[in-house]
Amino acid sequence: MKHIITLIPGDGTGPEISEATVRVVEATGIDVEWDVVNAGAEVYEKEGTVLPDKVLDSLRKNKIGIKGPITTPVGTGFRSVNVAMRKIFDLYACLRPCKSYPGVKSRYKDLDLIIVRENTEDLYAGIEFELNKPETLEIIDFIKSKKDIQIKKDSGISIKPISVSGSEKIIRFAFEYAKKNNRKKVTGVHKANIIKYTDGLFLDTFRRIALEYPGIESEDRIVDNMCMQLVQKPEIYDVLVLPNLYGDILSDLAAGLVGGLGVAPGANIGDEIALFEATHGSAPKYKGLNRINPTALMLSAVLMLRHINESKAADVLEKSIAEVIKEGKDVTYDLKPYRDDPSAVGTSQMADAIIKKIKELSG
Ligand code: NAD
Repeated sequence: MKHIITLIPGDGTGPEISEATVRVVEATGIDVEWDVVNAGAEVYEKEGTVLPDKVLDSLRKNKIGIKGPITTPVGTGFRSVNVAMRKIFDLYACLRPCKSYPGVKSRYKDLDLIIVRENTEDLYAGIEFELNKPETLEIIDFIKSKKDIQIKKDSGISIKPISVSGSEKIIRFAFEYAKKNNRKKVTGVHKANIIKYTDGLFLDTFRRIALEYPGIESEDRIVDNMCMQLVQKPEIYDVLVLPNLYGDILSDLAAGLVGGLGVAPGANIGDEIALFEATHGSAPKYKGLNRINPTALMLSAVLMLRHINESKAADVLEKSIAEVIKEGKDVTYDLKPYRDDPSAVGTSQMADAIIKKIKELSG
């Protein structure tokens, strides 16, 4: 079956790792056509918008996309294109696998954790009230009148909404993922002991949905304890499901357990559309240097291939990436024992080595 996939190369080092990823996906032999569109600050210069309609139309039409990182310039008033796309398409689930690959420097071995982060609610909903603004002072007065709590007048306020429907969707997504991928346990993470009406609601929803999946073990953890446990005994966890902010923090923590952002893939998934992307940013200081590690975007492509039911191609690609990393010869600087190792290869040479492996494995 032919797949038409939206490809957003991104900016900074995005185009280099996107090109490398396209080549390895094509080497698996699947029938794919790329619908290439771009977004971000560089596009703004030509088109007057950071997120042109043709990007949105392409994703609406193809339903599947893969994206290189996009720079969010600081202090220019640009909204993050990444956050905007998640909102527009209601990509409510952020999937972040954190898996050990021999050859990647890390403190732990044999980890295989899945972090499922809610992507649309919580303190990320963007409901914020700035210091000294009339509406901020109004909220402070409102809270005093309704709750008899005096917030300091010199406060900024950010609001944390968590809904039953949003929690149900993300928790069900986590259990369904566990079921489909033969995972044994789902852990719900929260701070319900203190934040009762939002995290408490998330926890109640977690316990209720867990009953629908008797074949999968479920448990919950308070987020601070979860951080300690992930550092002390990460191997006892399997799938974690978290509200947005805790998910943001713990997914980077978990990426750190397996060797950092250079090898951490990701996906933003909604009911209709899924957008796959590396976890790291555009690393602009390496732009055009053919230096950075393409693994995170390639592993995001592995997730994408599984999502479109090309599991054979996904397995071959993942195995080929893993073998090249394990051999440690044709890898980028960050995967060498020393960062200035002269034997490090460039982004595209690492892709060449992976393609060679794909061909060997495919016989
Ligand atoms: P970054 O991830 O781009 O880079 C931080 C450092 O990590 C780099 O300088 C480099 O040393 C290292 N690094 C990152 N990826 C690497 C790779 N694949 N191989 C080797 N080394 C790698 O983080 P940043 O500097 O905070 O962000 C740069 C820009 O990217 C910002 O504008 C930010 O908003 C944006 N960003 C975009 C996304 C996205 O598109 N989803 C995600 C995060 C950040």
